[in-house]
Amino acid sequence: MSKFWSPFVRDLVPYVPGEQPKLTKLVKLNTNENPYGPSPKAIEAMRAEVNDNLRLYPDPNGDQLKQAVARYYDVETSHVFLGNGSDEVLAHAYNAFFQHDKPLLFPDISYSFYPVYCGLYGIEYTAVPLDEQFQIRVEDYVGPNGGIIFPNPNAPTGCVVALGAVEQILKANPDSVVIVDEAYIDFGGKTAITLVKRYPNLLVTQTLSKSRSLAGLRVGLAVGHPDLIEALERVKNSFNSYPLDRIAIAGAAAAFDDREHFEQTCKAVIASRETLVKQLEGKGFEVLPSAANFIFARHPLHDAAALAAKVREQGVIVRHFKQQRIAQFLRISIGTPEQNQALVDALGDL
Ligand SMILES: *Cc1c(COP(=O)(O)O)cnc(C)c1O
Repeated sequence: MSKFWSPFVRDLVPYVPGEQPKLTKLVKLNTNENPYGPSPKAIEAMRAEVNDNLRLYPDPNGDQLKQAVARYYDVETSHVFLGNGSDEVLAHAYNAFFQHDKPLLFPDISYSFYPVYCGLYGIEYTAVPLDEQFQIRVEDYVGPNGGIIFPNPNAPTGCVVALGAVEQILKANPDSVVIVDEAYIDFGGKTAITLVKRYPNLLVTQTLSKSRSLAGLRVGLAVGHPDLIEALERVKNSFNSYPLDRIAIAGAAAAFDDREHFEQTCKAVIASRETLVKQLEGKGFEVLPSAANFIFARHPLHDAAALAAKVREQGVIVRHFKQQRIAQFLRISIGTPEQNQALVDALGDL
């Protein structure tokens, strides 16, 4: 703390990202990165951008990428917003839509960045408990609120809600913006983007960090009614006109265009997930049903923190959250079959 700080900085509680160790030999199953590389066509497109043009500012609207996203999802470019990772998209969305007297609603177990933005922007929130099976209960999202946000599939549980349930929440809240954070949707859910043209209160956010394996590039997006997109553009252009650089725009657009690589790698992750679930259940773990590129599991006889420490000693990192309801769970990102096997071996006999 220092006398130079703006007063509100003292009270900020920042997000704590999963460890990014400098040691490269570790098997990293802690931050939900994709174990497979990005599209070779995306790499090629990015290499082609490394040239003298880098002296010029990029397109502030990232039109090339907006067009690729619009093509992929069969929407107009006026439905698409881009940001430096979906974390930035979410930050702008909080500012644009959630500054109200009534509290923002989100599940008690969900993305731990949600309360952090509330702290940054001075927004009240209510953490709505998931049910005993860690599922979202639609009827809990009907009261007065200043907005709603939830990940689908949820993080860190991996549980998905059906599109019908998303639609019920949208219908029950015609006066609030509902953000569906689809960071993991490509690993087993149905995107709500198909509902955007019918629900002017729906904003869907996605990222290229997980299913398109470009966490290092920092590209995220939102799809929604053009009125919502306009609000986001106003906030963005009051903050940073150029959130995406030339390399990111080209690489992300090429990644969206390469459907084959995308579908193949998603399929491989899903297949490995199913294998890993069976192996862990064979060791006595209870695993929540996952539609994501990670699983959430607990062992009835072994402390989660102790298990995380045990596998860490053998070079495998998984994520453990010191949060009341989930303190006995481990969140395990899906790796390659070899990486998953390293985890299974590190757990040993339980
Ligand atoms: C990973 C993740 C994000 C953020 O993704 P970036 O685009 O890398 O900022 C957003 N929401 C959830 C639920 C995530 O797990």
